[in-house]
Order: sequence, then structure tokens, then C-alpha cells
Amino acid sequence: MIYGYNGCDHLEPVLEALLAAGNRVDPHPQVTGPFRPSQGGMYCPLIDAIDFAVIADIPRVPDVAFDPDDDAIFCHSCWLPIYGGENLRRSREAWERATGKPFQPNTDR
Ligand SMILES: [Zn+2]
Repeated sequence: MIYGYNGCDHLEPVLEALLAAGNRVDPHPQVTGPFRPSQGGMYCPLIDAIDFAVIADIPRVPDVAFDPDDDAIFCHSCWLPIYGGENLRRSREAWERATGKPFQPNTDR
């Protein structure tokens, strides 16, 4: 059980195993739990890329999809994603290419 967990029950065992293996949630100044709000809904940002070997054998509901190519895990039942550090790095780079500006995380929300 993750202290302050604010995601769905389907993703908690997966996230717990990833954190036990050494990955970390990127901290947010206003949110205690691993999931944080955004314009697109709640999501969980991890600092390191997701190690899918760590979670390959974890029992999970069919609605939880692993996407190694996208470095992401998604619960289709609750519409909640976990993004690995590689996914977030690619997203920041795409945002910078599209806007021509350096990425600045918005921590006001
Ligand atoms: Zn769920």
C-alpha cells in the first residue's frame, strides 16, 4: 500500500512494484499522492523509464495496458496513465519543438 495513494486500485500494485524496484514519482509541491492533476486529467509521472520486466508477472485487470514502446501504462477502466521518464522526456521535447520555447513545468495547479 502506497502512503497517500490517489490513483485507481488497478494501477496500485503495478506502481508499488515499480517504486520497490527503485523508480521514483516526480514530486509535485501541492500533491501528496503519486497522481497529479493536468488539463488532460490525473496522471502519474515517474522519473526513470518504466522497467516492464519488473511488472511482467504482476496479476492485473485486463483493462490495464502496458505500452513499452510509449513507456506508459494505462488503466482503460479509470482512464488513468502512468508515464515513465522516457515518455515524459519525449513529450517535453515535442512541446519545445512545437513552441520553440524551453519547457517550464507548471506547478501552480
Ligand atoms: Zn483503474
